[in-house]
Amino acid sequence: MRALTWHGKQDVRIEDVPRPEIVNPTDAIIEVTATAICGSDLHLYHGRVPSMREGDVLGHEPMGEVIEVGEEVETLEVGDRVVVPFTISCGECWFCENDLYSLCDNSNPNAEIAREVMGHSPAGLFGYSHMLGGYAGGQAEYLRVPYADVGPIEVESDLSDEQLLFLSDIFPTGYMAAENADIDPADTVAVWGCGPVGQFAIQSAQLLGADRVIAIDRFPERLAMAREHGDAVTIDYSEEDVYHRLMELTGNRGPDSCIDAVGTDAHGTGLLDASDRVKRSVKLEDDRPYVLREAIRCCRKGGTLSVPGVYVGRMDNFPFGPLMNKGLTVKTGQTHVQRYLEPLLETIEDGEIDPSFVVTHEADLGKGPELYETFNDKADDCIKVVLTP
Ligand SMILES: [Zn+2]
Ligand SMILES: [Zn+2]
Repeated sequence: MRALTWHGKQDVRIEDVPRPEIVNPTDAIIEVTATAICGSDLHLYHGRVPSMREGDVLGHEPMGEVIEVGEEVETLEVGDRVVVPFTISCGECWFCENDLYSLCDNSNPNAEIAREVMGHSPAGLFGYSHMLGGYAGGQAEYLRVPYADVGPIEVESDLSDEQLLFLSDIFPTGYMAAENADIDPADTVAVWGCGPVGQFAIQSAQLLGADRVIAIDRFPERLAMAREHGDAVTIDYSEEDVYHRLMELTGNRGPDSCIDAVGTDAHGTGLLDASDRVKRSVKLEDDRPYVLREAIRCCRKGGTLSVPGVYVGRMDNFPFGPLMNKGLTVKTGQTHVQRYLEPLLETIEDGEIDPSFVVTHEADLGKGPELYETFNDKADDCIKVVLTP
């Protein structure tokens, strides 16, 4: 079958790889009908995530049709149309039972490597390194879905793939980010990053009743999308000083909640940026803490910092003193996608939100390597790519 495979820094290829087969009786195989490239795939594309191997199949935002089920699968049948969450969860461990699906204790067969690095292993993820399970991803014609009774949600509606696909990751991820921001009705919420997750965080903050959402980015098309679809006030950080503008907008109080929807690929400027680059070059630092630093500086005292942006390692010059003295609460984590599938499917079916607004590029899977480049360069006003195998 055809699949997009990883071959090192900025080297994604379309290749013929063996078609997946049922391995465990709780597996299902789906024929992928639509699959997206995620901002966090760019961390892999830049070679920033450890334990990737040549030939790994990428992708964690797929949907499709069930074509085979293992003998213990109870909820799915051949022919079902499903969206598959990027988090792989067993459904039976303490974490799954407590709705903390992305922290599942059983779904990462390489838990030992993750434990070495982090102390404990989070859940396995599709197409996201061997440290996180070594599972083949969904940018392919077919996908093996482990724990098929726990992850995929069956969708019977006549909504299009583009309207449903983002239940796999970015819609729940933006939604959990907004939920983690502890929004009260009078609140101002600032969102750093107007990529796909940022766009869904903005809309989710509106759904959760924020009084005002302020969106920060430097790409005009992303800021325009935040204004037009997310009803946000926008700040272009390449033209305005973010701290001063936020203080101006909030009477010097700062936003009640700050959402970092950028993560490790943040861009910085000035002296600290230069010192960070030196540290990264000698492997003293792996992450880019620009957005976190700025959000901590801007957030109102006693406010909440919600971090859906993906970080991969260690960072330097992290302002823990300001965070502590300002009494901020930090909430973060990979998304517990399974928790949000049903309620968010309802918001789509009820017409409260149409997630397809974020799609800017659609193409055949074979165009994947090119579109990774386009998406990475933010060329051609690219915000979200959907591929059809
Ligand atoms: Zn994703
Ligand atoms: Zn579990």
